[in-house]
Amino acid sequence: MIEDSQQSRTKLSELGEFGLIDLLTKNLDSKLPSTIKGIGDDAAVLNFEGKQTILTTDLLVEGVHFDLAYMPLRHLGYKAVMVNLSDVYAMNGVATQITVGIACSNRFPVEALEELYSGIELAAKLYDIDVVGGDTTSSTKGLLISITAIGVADKEDVVYRNGAKPNDLLVVTGDLGAAYMGLQILEREKEVFKVNPNSQPDLDAYTYLIERQLKPEARKDISGLLKSLEVKPTSMIDISDGLSSEIMHLCKNSKTGVNLFEDKIPLDPTVISVCEEFEIDSTTIALSGGEDYELLFTVSQTDFEKIKANPNFSIIGHMTEENEGMHLITRDNTKIPLIAKGWNAMEKDAED
Ligand code: ADP
Ligand code: MG
Repeated sequence: MIEDSQQSRTKLSELGEFGLIDLLTKNLDSKLPSTIKGIGDDAAVLNFEGKQTILTTDLLVEGVHFDLAYMPLRHLGYKAVMVNLSDVYAMNGVATQITVGIACSNRFPVEALEELYSGIELAAKLYDIDVVGGDTTSSTKGLLISITAIGVADKEDVVYRNGAKPNDLLVVTGDLGAAYMGLQILEREKEVFKVNPNSQPDLDAYTYLIERQLKPEARKDISGLLKSLEVKPTSMIDISDGLSSEIMHLCKNSKTGVNLFEDKIPLDPTVISVCEEFEIDSTTIALSGGEDYELLFTVSQTDFEKIKANPNFSIIGHMTEENEGMHLITRDNTKIPLIAKGWNAMEKDAED
């Protein structure tokens, strides 16, 4: 298991709320011209000079969204930021600022929150965003993190879920299912560790999967890439709950159907081999696994030439008339209805 690298333990009560805020925010200087006032007043002040503002928020709860048994706090901080930035990128926007609310019980020492903030700081640095505020409070049990992300886009660049048309191509970035299989590996190791705390797991073969689970990267690059290719998606969403439920969101919002081709779904070779090891179907994992933080979008058929050879993109299907329904065309060419299962639903199935 991942050891807590912090040896010293300073009680939260030794610092008090304001001392803690000062400590956690001391490195968070604002850098962007759009940040007029960051941390340190009653509220932040931003100026986007006539662009549209994109705003999104996510709440992560210990025991529900993360397990500190295998999630290092630094990674948790990083991932909490990614989850939010991904939503801004899914609107085809540029993420600019975040605020961070944390509630934690006094079981956490000050050093643990510093670890959490080191991950938030790293994400802010790598993704060019300012942390412009937050709130710090106590909880009776566990840790909660609520991040709000702000972004901008020109009005004509914003992409919604509702613009897909029949015959549009369905496109996904990256590959799918790895984060979910990473979680399965970590859960398995946690059980092994419970039985034998001295076991030294050899996780080398699973590095990619574990990284996708513990340190996901939001697709900051896609909006610029599409712009350079002169492609504007007709609809877009990020993949947080699994491919099938995200496809269904696009279909429902756009009032279309879909044909999704199983053999086109991008899978990393390690996902295929680990699915064999766990005796689960890799397509099911891609469809329902979740936490991939890739982008799913539709483009007009006329854009086919511009995206077909790009290694960032896989064309996995096409939209149809709404009354044709939502279908998966399997490898043996059978047409079956697409069913939505978020990974919560799948977890339940696995227990049954
Ligand atoms: P208020 O009493 O107005 O809520 P606070 O004392 O909570 O103000 O916060 C002071 C400043 O520090 C504000 O700018 C606030 O946004 C910021 N801040 C508080 N907690 C955090 C945090 N966990 N992360 C980042 N900024 C924070
Ligand atoms: Mg406050």
